[in-house]
Amino acid sequence: MNILVINCGSSSLKYQLIDSDSEAVLAKGLCERIGIEGSVLTHTAAGKDKVVIETPMPTHTTAVKLVIDALTDANHGVINSVDEIAAVGHRIVHGGEKFTSSAIITDEVIKNIEECSDLAPLHNPAHLIGINSCRELMPNVPMVAVFDTAFHQTMPEKAYLYGLPYEYYEKYKVRRYGFHGTSHDYVSARAAEILGKKREDMKIIVCHLGNGGSVSAVDHGKCVDTSMGLTPLQGIIMGTRSGDIDPAICDFICQKEGLTSQEMNNVLNKKSGVLGMSGVSSDFRDVEAAAKEGNKRAANALDAYYYSVAKYIGAYVAAMNGVDAIAFTAGVGENNISGRVEIAKYLGYLGTEIDTEKNNVRGVDAVISKDGSKVALLCVPTNEELAIARQTLALIK
Ligand code: ADP
Repeated sequence: MNILVINCGSSSLKYQLIDSDSEAVLAKGLCERIGIEGSVLTHTAAGKDKVVIETPMPTHTTAVKLVIDALTDANHGVINSVDEIAAVGHRIVHGGEKFTSSAIITDEVIKNIEECSDLAPLHNPAHLIGINSCRELMPNVPMVAVFDTAFHQTMPEKAYLYGLPYEYYEKYKVRRYGFHGTSHDYVSARAAEILGKKREDMKIIVCHLGNGGSVSAVDHGKCVDTSMGLTPLQGIIMGTRSGDIDPAICDFICQKEGLTSQEMNNVLNKKSGVLGMSGVSSDFRDVEAAAKEGNKRAANALDAYYYSVAKYIGAYVAAMNGVDAIAFTAGVGENNISGRVEIAKYLGYLGTEIDTEKNNVRGVDAVISKDGSKVALLCVPTNEELAIARQTLALIK
């Protein structure tokens, strides 16, 4: 069966067509600049050259239509018609407290996703546009919503309640939700599999370190804590996001610089993190290169970044009263060999040591700790699209 996975943003749409039997990616692509001049679709079918189609995409419906055309095209297509798409899986950033797992999309589910838009105003409305466009063009194809927040819904109250007046939770649902849930779920399951164990018997910490990053504690298969919060701004230092700061800094800087709260929010989301600290880039490769050339601010930014990850690992060892495996994933986690070494330097107290030879890998499944380590360290490439396809299939079966 073929599952189409859609990740729809306000002006972009990423897709993958996955064969659920072999789990192979048949085709994937990206529509950019939807609703803006200069729209472009980049489509790659497995084993074929990349095709770049520059054509106006005034709406998301036009974009989805172009994706269907590309998938069914005589030259660069991989299926004959829409009938060969068994289901569509939509990535949805925020499911609030309403969604503890994926859901078949119905009018009721759409209404509930709409109600969570307050919590993710940049993402959920865009996802809904994508869902509606797909429903319009593929009215008979079942669709599933897969939420970034769902895996974290097992957190206990002590982990998700903030030290704030309770009425904010009651009135506005202000609490920790956590994000990258699909990845934390997939990677923790995969880490257990690689170690030949059951996730239900293990305590696992997942470090999803990309441009955005989060750490989670997965205790016997259930998430018990995660570093992101109400929004993806909380937690470790990130590419452009501050992560944890003293909340009083916001008012202090607003007063000093004459910023509005929205402008301050923008600084925290887009101008902070290793970008703001180093003044070099949000891309960890650039920051690393600058640090190697002697840029002190870049070196400090990386040090602070690794330290922030190590502190969360320590916190989650405490949360679970132990840990069996720590898995690194996403752009930095999978590829930054020296970064994993730097983080592992903080973990000796756990009775684990990184194996420099085994750690010399990028983007592959690998145990990277020395034999005999009490806690296994792993590199586990995440695959959110595959996880979405699997969950979609499970629901439509
Ligand atoms: P997101 O999905 O949050 O945009 P990714 O998971 O794609 O992020 O990760 C992007 C980050 O991964 C970039 O900052 C990039 O610098 C980093 N990255 C990719 N490859 C490497 C590498 N070889 N060494 C260090 N960092 C890398």
